[in-house]
Amino acid sequence: MMLSTVLSKRTALRYLSTKAVESVDVLIVGGGVVGLGMAASLQRTLPHLQVRVLEVGQAPSSASKDSLVPHPRSYALSPASLQFLQLTDDDSSQEQPQQQQQQQQQDLGFYQRMQVWEARQPAFLNFGIEDLTSSSSSSSSKSCLGAVVEDSFLIQTLSSRLAPDTIQYEATVIDWQLPSHTSQGLAQVTLNTGTRVQCQLLVAADGANSPLRKRLGIASRVHEYGETALTCTVEIDDDDSSGMQHCAFQRFVGNEGILALLPTRSNRHAIVVWSTRPEQVEHWKKVPLAQLMEYWNQLLQQGPQRLDPLFPRTDIPVLSNIQYGAEKVWEMIQYGSTLASVTHRAAQQSFLLPPLLLQTASPLLSFPLQLRQVARYTAPRVALVGDAAHTVHPMAGQGLNLGLQDLQCLLKHLQKADDAGMDLATFIENGYEQSRQQQVLATVQGIHALHQLFRSQSTILQHLKTFGMNVVQTVPPVRSLLVQAACGGLGR
Ligand SMILES: Cc1cc2nc3c(=O)[nH]c(=O)nc-3n(C[C@H](O)[C@H](O)[C@H](O)COP(=O)(O)OP(=O)(O)OC[C@H]3O[C@@H](n4cnc5c(N)ncnc54)[C@H](O)[C@@H]3O)c2cc1C
Repeated sequence: MMLSTVLSKRTALRYLSTKAVESVDVLIVGGGVVGLGMAASLQRTLPHLQVRVLEVGQAPSSASKDSLVPHPRSYALSPASLQFLQLTDDDSSQEQPQQQQQQQQQDLGFYQRMQVWEARQPAFLNFGIEDLTSSSSSSSSKSCLGAVVEDSFLIQTLSSRLAPDTIQYEATVIDWQLPSHTSQGLAQVTLNTGTRVQCQLLVAADGANSPLRKRLGIASRVHEYGETALTCTVEIDDDDSSGMQHCAFQRFVGNEGILALLPTRSNRHAIVVWSTRPEQVEHWKKVPLAQLMEYWNQLLQQGPQRLDPLFPRTDIPVLSNIQYGAEKVWEMIQYGSTLASVTHRAAQQSFLLPPLLLQTASPLLSFPLQLRQVARYTAPRVALVGDAAHTVHPMAGQGLNLGLQDLQCLLKHLQKADDAGMDLATFIENGYEQSRQQQVLATVQGIHALHQLFRSQSTILQHLKTFGMNVVQTVPPVRSLLVQAACGGLGR
């Protein structure tokens, strides 16, 4: 037994040493949406480069893509991301045949509105495409605020665009040889098959637990939310109304968490993403699913409600009258603008009731939630992208959108080096590193601050939030700025 192990190790070593080193320009580790998105956009914009993707998993089957029921592993993508992935019929995707484009559009759950409201607040936000100014929508599909797209669809679509043999499935890296400085040689990996591959740039797109990030010893700032996301596809009642009304709904329900209901490519189905305490998730996984539907329906069917007064009522009549008067003045300040504009408000800006959920249409999936941001996005000849570099709370639906912005930034720096005939890694440690440090930090911190604000149970904060939400809802330029940011038109 021992002898055979020694012999097989020797054989493997001999095999390794005799195999030639293959060379590519860019080697991408991880064939998720971000890794494949990088490969597809590189082959489109710099077609002379040799690109390879290493994916540890197996090649996907086409069964999931052809299902009538959308899979809950889906992402709300901004118009900017849809355009980058060439999924919308904008000018940049003219290269694709029209029939293919139309087919693609049927696989997207477009939404033209977003509605956000709180558990106990007389305020809500309701945005629509009318809030996109012409400048903000110039780079995006003008008829939507975004679309919900299944992971399996993105994987299939992006893989089908790649040159043959770009992706190597079931590929495990057993050894990394990384230079300590870009000038000290190329990066090289050894695979379980014995193949050695060297490259000018190694892209880490290997997800939140990134083995490459760990190998490089890059530290991360991590915040455990103490929340788990429970998600599934649900069948919705689309008889008496127009179903989802092309709207993405999200309700903040205090201690119960954050409940989102997202449209899909099917009029009869929506996706629920419920971020809540892990013990709640464990509880509801054991309870009959009909009860879970009833509970979610209760949460979603409640519209905005009145807030508790700022101070408890006193029993002394004179003081009680003064307090009553003060509360009315505060209410006027808080909601005055909303009340004043109510008659002028377009019908589509009034509160929309979400459709009733009928039953689950997929298994329940759960994911523990964590904020992560790496201390460095680069190392010599290495760039981190997507979840390998950052993870955020799904409440803003920004995780993958942020990963796709990494790709656009990285491509810009690769193109600059390529145009100048320089080593592809030339602008990585300065250009890419600096851009991502600034831009991702702002987004990650913004999402985190919003999460803390909306989860807070402080009465004072709730009154301030109500005031803030009413201002945003009733002042068009402020609303427009927020919609532009949500659609990826700002801060990139
Ligand atoms: C509940 C929930 C809802 C979300 N909703 C949204 C949303 O609405 N919008 C949005 O923008 N984002 C959303 N996100 C975030 C989104 O899921 C992630 O940002 C996105 O999936 C990251 O993609 P990725 O390709 O970087 O990583 P992954 O999808 O994790 O892919 C990594 C790939 O690398 C492979 N891999 C790992 N190790 C190796 C190795 N050593 N060698 C080779 N391959 C390897 C893996 O097999 C995998 O295929 C959500 C997240 C959650 C949890």
